[in-house]
Amino acid sequence: MDLTQFEHQYDHLARDVASFKRAISNKLVYSVGKDPVSARPEDWLHAVSYAVRDHLVERWMKTTRAQYAQDVKRVYYLSMEFLIGRTFSNALLALELMPTIRQALGELDVDVDKLFDLEPDAALGNGGLGRLAACFLDSMATIGVPGFGYGIRYDYGMFRQTIVDGRQVEVPDYWLNQGNPWEFPRPEVHYRVRFGGYLETTGQGVDSIVRWVGTDDVLAMAYDTIIPGYGTQATNTLRLWSAKATEEMNLKAFNQGNYFGAVEGKNHSENVSRVLYPDDSTLSGRELRLRQEYFFVSASLQDLVHRYLRTHTGFEALPDKVSIHLNDTHPVLAIPELMRILVDEHRVPWAQAWALSQKVFSYTNHTLMHEALETWPVDLFGRVLPRHLRIIFDINADFLAAITKKNGHQPELMRRVSLIDESGERRVRMAYLAVVASHSINGVSALHSELMKESIFADFARLWPERFNNKTNGVTPRRWLAQANPGLAALIDQRVGRGWRRHLDDLEGLRHSLDLPGFLGAFRKVKRQNKERLARYVLKHMGVTLNPDALFDVQVKRIHEYKRQLLNLLHVVSRYRAILANPDAQWVPRVVVFAGKAASAYHMAKLVIKLINDVARTVNNDPRVGDRLKVVFIPNYSVSLAEIIIPAADLSEQISTAGTEASGTGNMKFALNGALTIGTMDGANVEIHQQVGADNIFIFGNTTPEVAEIRARGYQPRALYEGNAELKATLDAIRDGLFSPDEPGRFQQIYDVLVNWGDHYLLLADYASYVAAQADVDMLYRNPDAWARKAVLNVAGMGVFSSDRTIAEYADQIWHSRPVVLPLPHTVQLAVEASAAVSSGS
Ligand SMILES: *Cc1c(COP(=O)(O)O)cnc(C)c1O
Repeated sequence: MDLTQFEHQYDHLARDVASFKRAISNKLVYSVGKDPVSARPEDWLHAVSYAVRDHLVERWMKTTRAQYAQDVKRVYYLSMEFLIGRTFSNALLALELMPTIRQALGELDVDVDKLFDLEPDAALGNGGLGRLAACFLDSMATIGVPGFGYGIRYDYGMFRQTIVDGRQVEVPDYWLNQGNPWEFPRPEVHYRVRFGGYLETTGQGVDSIVRWVGTDDVLAMAYDTIIPGYGTQATNTLRLWSAKATEEMNLKAFNQGNYFGAVEGKNHSENVSRVLYPDDSTLSGRELRLRQEYFFVSASLQDLVHRYLRTHTGFEALPDKVSIHLNDTHPVLAIPELMRILVDEHRVPWAQAWALSQKVFSYTNHTLMHEALETWPVDLFGRVLPRHLRIIFDINADFLAAITKKNGHQPELMRRVSLIDESGERRVRMAYLAVVASHSINGVSALHSELMKESIFADFARLWPERFNNKTNGVTPRRWLAQANPGLAALIDQRVGRGWRRHLDDLEGLRHSLDLPGFLGAFRKVKRQNKERLARYVLKHMGVTLNPDALFDVQVKRIHEYKRQLLNLLHVVSRYRAILANPDAQWVPRVVVFAGKAASAYHMAKLVIKLINDVARTVNNDPRVGDRLKVVFIPNYSVSLAEIIIPAADLSEQISTAGTEASGTGNMKFALNGALTIGTMDGANVEIHQQVGADNIFIFGNTTPEVAEIRARGYQPRALYEGNAELKATLDAIRDGLFSPDEPGRFQQIYDVLVNWGDHYLLLADYASYVAAQADVDMLYRNPDAWARKAVLNVAGMGVFSSDRTIAEYADQIWHSRPVVLPLPHTVQLAVEASAAVSSGS
């Protein structure tokens, strides 16, 4: 390719208030097409977004030019989900433009704070996995990893949750209906993705050629979003694919005079990018889901091979120039797809293609839970992707032959590790395919990575111990502290400077502030203001008044049995009963906050939501309780709601059964915002415990080995129920309709799951220990300074949980990528550096 094009110049944009006023007004008129006199707030939001986006575009071009010029190794992060949230305020933060834009809009008579709430969340993910991908994009850009995110541009993101009569009702999230000013449609970047059809083989043995014909095709069209780095000019690209019908499909039907048939077919083929599957931690083995996976993987692989071939001939250098990272098993079809492209389209010999693939792919496992492990029936797979099934069979044959050669003939081992599960209906094991093809397989917390080697991948860890490693998750401190909690951010700036936004370890410096006069008071004041902000939100949206002096006890995350919202609720009900029994005791007032979505088909999770709401209604309307206890279920948990709730928390509930939560990232966000954790020794809680010290966290419950032991001994929840009078009374109250007088049997099933049906997640085994830990929480909260000290020590210990640290480890140990070096700084970079230097006092 012609590198002289890098000489092309463009004007650098001015960053002063007057220039922005002009730019925003021009965008309003010439891009949005609105007269300022009649412009709605939405129009202003779009206008200012375009004006700000222009500044990102400058950096983007510069970064892309540098990436080509330096022929850097690119990291392709493939993920079915990117849970991004809002972009506007994040972009202002990255560009350090918040004060400028606030003033410019103010002078145009527009209140910037009113605009923020108008932007819909980009909710292209379910929960932790998708949010991790979003934090990773932010960190890759910030530390200069030349990264590309690849995913699906769903027309409908995560559903909007409404609560009707205490029950979850899903509403479609058509997030694009106002247009999306942050994306660049790329109609010229499209690839054909094929489905179905059959195989024709010509030739024999290694010379045979397989042709995949008779397919149903769809086009994948690219939409690009700029991902800005913080404190750097580097940016990255998130490229999302949208399905478009192919032209010939339309033409054929048109020529037969079937206009409606043609349009119907078009709609059908475009369904593949229509909607995000709302299942978190459970496999939905539907054909459309398999098609979605192949759709985005095929387009991404074609695209990255195309990019590679623009500046290289032959594939020898592929592993030096390309890393492909698989975020869970959803993109694992990338493996047979790369093999197909190399072998079928570029005639690379099979063995060489396989050797290249193994150097290119790496894989992150996100769960050990059986119901989440992805497998596909061979029949379905072969119907949708016949060529890929053949490739997987061939990979499997080679793999099984290789281990036979190494370990001798061991039929039992072969049965266990085969990529095809032959017990019952034959199924393709996607996680095993990922392990066989990847040079690196990582878990997401120290505990999870160990359990992964002992459980689902035990045989593989014995075969290839060197492939397995841990990369503990992290969160971006830009969104989860600087943006979500400006009050705390400003206080931290005063104490340790502004550098923590890029070097979160700087938070350690807060330890020296503990005894400064006024510091703990200032810290408590910030927390109090955040609680007032949340209380205003709850009053406005739910009509419930919260007392900001109460202890805010918060559990927000997907509703799932393993996360044990029900255990939290058992404590709430016990406390309610205790308050009624002894109203004059010195109760620490509590507000218990829940939020989270249930998968639409997950009956038990939905019943838990109903129970939370029924308990809330009963408790909140019981005059004998007053301010001692309030319970709220805030509808529609999302990234932007998390940004309001998390900074307001005193207590962070991280109470999954030990051994079930792979890492958690909510736990990190809370501690970073000065909440104390009540939690089990699960996922990254173990490492949070290590960082903050045992005195500054409330750990309870059975550990992972203890859980295994209890189960091995034959767990008897009924004995626990009979043996603990308070627990029994609590469960009986739920069963007998104390919270559902209109339908007393409504929660019988919840009682049964816990008492009669085995209590799979051991709530009853952890109940007493949990209630005791909650009593310790009350005790500490009575001493505000002691509480605040521990909360500050939590913030101080969170440095290691920056996703910058996580990404630096991936880049160094898995991807072996080097940062892109940007050419001579121009005014923008100078301005950023100057402001960073001034504010950090250096
Ligand atoms: C961080 C986050 C999650 C993950 O929370 P966990 O407590 O780790 O399960 C889920 N959803 C949203 C919106 C988040 O911001």
